[in-house]
Amino acid sequence: MKKILILTASPRRDLLIDEQIAKKLKELGNETKIAPCLREGRDTVLEYQPDVVVVPPVRNMYSRDFCEDIKRFGCGLVSRHTEPSCDWPDYKAMNQKQQSEICGLIQYYVDSELVWSEDEAQILNRRGAKFKAVSVGAVGVDKYLNPEYKKRYKDKAKFKKKYKFTNNKTILIQSPWGFADHSPDLRIEEVDEFVKDNKGRDRHLDMIEALHKELPDYNIIVTTHPGVVTKPYIQRLGKLGIPLDTVSTSLELMLNSDILIHAGSTMAIGAHFLKMPAFQFGDVNLKDSTNWWHQSGKIMAEMSLNCKNPEMLAKLIKKAEPKSNINKEALEKLREGRYGIMDGKATDRAAEIINKIEGKFKFAWPRSTHDYSQLTILQHPSKAIADANCGICKEAFGIMRPEYKEMIRVNVANVVKEAELVNKIMLIFEPVRGTYCPHCGSRFMPVMP
Ligand SMILES: [Zn+2]
Repeated sequence: MKKILILTASPRRDLLIDEQIAKKLKELGNETKIAPCLREGRDTVLEYQPDVVVVPPVRNMYSRDFCEDIKRFGCGLVSRHTEPSCDWPDYKAMNQKQQSEICGLIQYYVDSELVWSEDEAQILNRRGAKFKAVSVGAVGVDKYLNPEYKKRYKDKAKFKKKYKFTNNKTILIQSPWGFADHSPDLRIEEVDEFVKDNKGRDRHLDMIEALHKELPDYNIIVTTHPGVVTKPYIQRLGKLGIPLDTVSTSLELMLNSDILIHAGSTMAIGAHFLKMPAFQFGDVNLKDSTNWWHQSGKIMAEMSLNCKNPEMLAKLIKKAEPKSNINKEALEKLREGRYGIMDGKATDRAAEIINKIEGKFKFAWPRSTHDYSQLTILQHPSKAIADANCGICKEAFGIMRPEYKEMIRVNVANVVKEAELVNKIMLIFEPVRGTYCPHCGSRFMPVMP
């Protein structure tokens, strides 16, 4: 039995996924704990003292340092991708800068990295890292196929009572996230990609108002992506008596609604597995974004029928049958590419891999933030000597760094008080015969790396 800590990236999106992984890990004989990664991650590692830790994808220096600390405590470490990334056609269409972003701009170490699709695993395994990326399938899709979640969250009568709905059928409208105004204290780069689009928001709110008039026999509920500014929604929807839910998970909202309107959201895929008709209005995938996801293939914009105006939406909603209307061909492309297998078992496969990771928590001395190096005893030898390579014979050699010479000068000056004498002594650190490769004697221009 191991103690396994799962750190959740964004609870509203990821908690249900992590619960499924934890359940399987318990079945395999482990003890588990789930905690939010942001803000609480470090505390929880120290308090719970796990043998293995599962973290969100490592995308910045803070996460990299956190991973290093977890390894120093002797824990096994797995990173789990919370979103699908690119497939081979996406990757090949990218420029070099985008490709290197996909492969990660910072180096880090984990014992295993769980990704969605086989293509992504293959792409990431070209990084030459000391660990492997492994594809487990679309973990984000499992929750839609989980009968326990259906039992737990589906209660249409209760849902209608909560929102004082009187009609039989409910339309769930997901706002596009082009109007994102990132929480200043929790800036998420992915959200930065979307420029604010007030016109787009007004168009979206106009659509909601038109449907409200056009379809009096339907209940309407609106939800926004995390990070979207809600004030304009509250103002307009409040006048119409339409509720805005920014707290519930998309699964809970979808299980208690009958029709979905989205703007190219991945919720279209959830709707398919919940056998619910979905329509698209507006398109976040067409926005002038620098994000490759929205430029390459625009596959997310092909999942549902794209409606140009509220009249068309109203007409289609009246005729909609209670079943999936997803574009099967587009879904198949997603299965073969970005998403990978969508069988409801991806979280089980993830748990099986996590179960095999070894580790044992052992308290490690906290690293000091001070550098107690002195002239003759250095934390890192590279502080004194920079690595260089001869351009002619290719042999490696070392060059003393100017900063290190400065350190010597200060020390010499402490002992020898006359400035002129200090300068003379320091001459011994100049290459008297010029800069030659110490192996083959070819001349080089000294360039500090
Ligand atoms: Zn040489």
